[in-house]
Amino acid sequence: MINQIKVLEEVARRLEPGADQRALWLEKVTAYAENFINDIPNAPVYIGDGEQGRGLFDSPISEEGIDIETALALLKCNVDRPGLNPTSGRFLGYIPGGALYPAALGDYLAAITNRYAGVFFASPGAVRMENMLLRWMAGVVGYPESSAGNLTSGGSVANLAGIVTARDAYQIEGAEVGRAVVYLTEQVHHSVGKALRLAGLRSCVKRFIPVDARYRMDAGALAEAIATDKRSGLQPWLIVASAGTTNTGSVDPLAAIGDIAAAEQLWFHIDGAYGAFFTLCSEGQKILAGMDRSDSIVMDPHKTLFLPYGSGAVLVKERQKLYSSHNHQADYMQDALAAVEELSPADLSPELTKHFKGLRLWLPLKLFGLAPFRAALEEKMLLARYFHHKIQEIDGFETGPEPDLAVAIYRYLPKRGDANKFNQRLIKEIHQDGRVFVSSTVIDGNFVLRLAVGAYRTHLADIDLTLDILKEKVNDLGML
Ligand SMILES: *Cc1c(COP(=O)(O)O)cnc(C)c1O
Repeated sequence: MINQIKVLEEVARRLEPGADQRALWLEKVTAYAENFINDIPNAPVYIGDGEQGRGLFDSPISEEGIDIETALALLKCNVDRPGLNPTSGRFLGYIPGGALYPAALGDYLAAITNRYAGVFFASPGAVRMENMLLRWMAGVVGYPESSAGNLTSGGSVANLAGIVTARDAYQIEGAEVGRAVVYLTEQVHHSVGKALRLAGLRSCVKRFIPVDARYRMDAGALAEAIATDKRSGLQPWLIVASAGTTNTGSVDPLAAIGDIAAAEQLWFHIDGAYGAFFTLCSEGQKILAGMDRSDSIVMDPHKTLFLPYGSGAVLVKERQKLYSSHNHQADYMQDALAAVEELSPADLSPELTKHFKGLRLWLPLKLFGLAPFRAALEEKMLLARYFHHKIQEIDGFETGPEPDLAVAIYRYLPKRGDANKFNQRLIKEIHQDGRVFVSSTVIDGNFVLRLAVGAYRTHLADIDLTLDILKEKVNDLGML
């Protein structure tokens, strides 16, 4: 048996590369990363043709390893070429962000040290760091120290956590579900509807409140709808407002909605996955006033704090509400809350063992400080307004309202023919060209183009290039 163990040990020890091997791998990976970063200004932002990553299958998972050069070559042509390049400053579709460099270093260190960030006892430092970041975020949106939160993988999971907490706080279960009313608008992100389904609330009543000309919830109509529902014996329960919709970046009237929620005693949830962090800059702070009135809020560091994907957050103002819905030892709840210095993520989320996400956020915030984040966010807001203004100067383009945050909607109105078809062709041309990436949406039945300024690498020259390309493509399509 000892012989057998020794034979196995020899093979198993390949999992423990020595210092030379580590240095070689790190050198190759660093060189790859440097090339990737240096290429960003010239690389296409979208590649829709070719093999689309199929070459990965030519190198199946097998008994023997391959060398790092071969592995990186596979990565380069199959993963890092086809599709979107969301690190580009010319990525202006959906909701950009960009992936800050120190966040990658944070992930690297988190993976090397593998601290157990789920439970305070296992890694008090990791848990303190994550809770410190969540308290910082709480301060950003005006929540008290006594709030609690969780670093999630994204906004969708964060919305689910907020809605589950609201459900339990109001004991929406059994026969109550069919009578419980949720107030939202058609502009709410689809992850809210998904979260309601996942939370077992498929049959609750969804009341879509009309929006105004800027796609913001009409607070007067909200108050009327609640009164009507109360009169007819339903149970108004939850208001979901958007601090920056995905479609148009519109911010609902948060303070007015907060007044209504307080007067009617409803749970007020804000989806600020896209927009909440804009409050770090003075332009954003004005429009986002009232976030502090909510009971729960979602914010996505992988959007407007420019982190790599996999970083969302949920905050709940009354910490025991989040805890009651997610802890795994309900019997000691009150005492535990009083006794422990720091709540553990495992008691505030569905997860137990989890990625130590705090480090990828802490390191960039500490190395850069807040000032460049504030400047970048304000710059993006002004760039969206600049685009909104400039595109109107090109003959034939029509725009939506002035952006609340950093999303502008627009379309070209051809002198003849169908506008929807023309704009579909226009966006296809832009995607095929690949120099810039803008996306589209449907608003009031119209196919419209969106420009979302949000990648930290996006600056004035990228917006000017986008304007030139739009002009050029309309011209190519025989319309200017
Ligand atoms: C992006 C977004 C979401 C979903 O967040 P993910 O991080 O993609 O899961 C939810 N709400 C809004 C307003 C968003 O912009």
